[in-house]
Amino acid sequence: MRLILLGPPGAGKGTQAQKLVERHGIVQLSTGDMLRAAVKAETPIGLEAKAIMDRGELVPDSVVVEIVSERLDEPDCAKGFILDGFPRTVPQAEALEALLETKSLQLDAVVELVVDEDALLDRVKKRVAESGENVRSDDNAEALKKRLDVYRQQTAPLAEFYRQKGLLKQINGMAPIDEVATEIDGVLAAPGR
Ligand code: ADP
Repeated sequence: MRLILLGPPGAGKGTQAQKLVERHGIVQLSTGDMLRAAVKAETPIGLEAKAIMDRGELVPDSVVVEIVSERLDEPDCAKGFILDGFPRTVPQAEALEALLETKSLQLDAVVELVVDEDALLDRVKKRVAESGENVRSDDNAEALKKRLDVYRQQTAPLAEFYRQKGLLKQINGMAPIDEVATEIDGVLAAPGR
C-alpha cells in the first residue's frame, strides 16, 4: 500500500502513520524527520535546511524531492510506504508523480486529516510541554503560526489536486486517536469510495 497523509501541523499525521506502519507492515517516510536527521548530522542538506526550518518556512522543493527519491529506492519501501509531510506543494506533488511513474509505482490513496485550526495550537503546545528538553526548534508560537500560514497557502491546495485524481479520502481528525485510525482503515478497505 502506498499512501500520502495530508494535514496541517498538529493534525496527528505522525501518530496515525505509526499506527498504519504497525497494521500494514509498511514504512513511514517523514520528510520532517529526514530533514531533522540531516540537521543533526550536519550534512550539507542539513546545514542548508536548519535556518529555514526554524523559521517555519519550506526547504526548497528540489532538496526534498531528491531525499524522497533516494529513500524510495531503499529495499524496505518495496512493501509500501506512507508519505508524511510530503508533498507539501503542488510542484512537489507533480515531481512525485513523475518519480512514481519512472519507478512504475502507483499511489493507493491520499488521506487528509481534517482538523479545526483552534485545536492545532493547543495540540502543538501540549507536544512542546511533553517533549521537555527534546523540544523541536520550530515548535514555538512564531514558527508554528508561519507553518500554519504556509500550510494554508501551499499545502492545502493539494487536497483539490488529489480529489481531481480520485485519490482523496477525507477523515475527521478531531475524533479520538483510535477512532481516527478506524476511520482510516475503513476508507482504505473501501476502494473507490
Ligand atoms: P509539521 O509538524 O509542521 O508537520 P514536519 O516535521 O513535517 O512538520 O516538518 C518540519 C519542517 O521541515 C517544515 O516546517 C519544513 O521547514 C521542513 N519540511 C518538511 N517536509 C518538507 C517538504 N516536503 N517540503 C519542504 N519543507 C519541508
